[in-house]
Amino acid sequence: MKISARVGQVPPSMTLAISAKAKAMKAEGIDVCSFSAGEPDFATPKHIVEAAKQALDEGKTRYGPAAGEMKLRSAIAQKLQTDNQLNYSAENVQVTNGGKQSLFNAILALIEPGDEVIIPAPYWVSYPEMVKLAEGTPIIVPTTAETQYKITPEQLKATITAKTKLFVLNSPSNPTGVVYTPDEIRALAEVAIDADIWAISDEIYEKILYDGAQHLSIGAVSPEMLDRTITSNGFAKAFSMTGWRVGYLAAPVALIKATSTLQSHSTSNVCTFAQYGALEALTSPESPGCIEQMRQAFAQRRTYILDRIHSIPGMSAPQPDGAFYVFVDISSTGLNSLEFCDRLLEKYHVAAVPGIAFGTDTCLRLSYATDMTSIEKGMDRLEQFVRSL
Ligand code: PLP
Repeated sequence: MKISARVGQVPPSMTLAISAKAKAMKAEGIDVCSFSAGEPDFATPKHIVEAAKQALDEGKTRYGPAAGEMKLRSAIAQKLQTDNQLNYSAENVQVTNGGKQSLFNAILALIEPGDEVIIPAPYWVSYPEMVKLAEGTPIIVPTTAETQYKITPEQLKATITAKTKLFVLNSPSNPTGVVYTPDEIRALAEVAIDADIWAISDEIYEKILYDGAQHLSIGAVSPEMLDRTITSNGFAKAFSMTGWRVGYLAAPVALIKATSTLQSHSTSNVCTFAQYGALEALTSPESPGCIEQMRQAFAQRRTYILDRIHSIPGMSAPQPDGAFYVFVDISSTGLNSLEFCDRLLEKYHVAAVPGIAFGTDTCLRLSYATDMTSIEKGMDRLEQFVRSL
């Protein structure tokens, strides 16, 4: 069988592969401490679950509009206005099967073969592959710990060519956890407007912030920027709803029409009753308290894990002001990230994701979306491993 070149060129997601390997080892009875998962370890808040149950009881089990239930699109537009100062209405919004489909829809609808898409590295694993699937060219811009792994306006400007269509911004970032300051966002917007390119702003971790970090949506910088911005977000991380598969895309109406057509020929609407759970998540007065409770648990783990990393000779990480990841520099060990993570998993039963999965081979990603006991045990083992090298 010959797989198409389009799909054949794309490797499977390394983060999912590592999580699967760690789970398989656990199933064999091995005591694995896993720092690999990209999902909160909390149950979905009860009021959200109840709303979906009620939707089922009410018979909300039928096909719906491909772009999403109108009530949910309106609530998302309202949220984007209130929380993000983005001037969108319901027709600017499409409900998607997670943030993943929202990014994929947007890239497929916007990118022509040969178009260049600027992606700062370290990047979330799926961005370059989505661009390749759309027959575009990912242009990876390496960043360093000196700039906290953030692309600078100068770097962005220097990378833009006549073929550049789009640049990808992810703040708070997976895998580094770093957050662009409002001034940094404004400076990037200025470059994008001057060069007449689009931005995709992946804001899926916007609610998970620490130490007073501020999130600014790039589309809120000015109306000119809003016209060239695609805002992608979802319910997975903030509301611990990873398996629900509800996300959304907000953009100029012409693009939403195109992505809705695309979705109408692929997955159609997002699971109807799941959308009613998402509606409850956005509109219930109980939700902010639930988000805050989870954020506080993450904050406590973050402090612990950073202290431990800083106490291991040769290890360092930039201060992650958001999300639930720490991106640890392991270059002093002389191992590349795959060797490091393989040995760590095989011999010390600790799962971490090699930085190469994110385009940065001198680092690894630790997710602290796991319980404190596993974090403590896993950090003991990581320290033992590094000291043994
Ligand atoms: N964007 C980033 C940066 C992510 O880390 C993830 C999930 O890990 C997604 C998008 C997609 O999230 P989902 O499709 O589960 O909503």
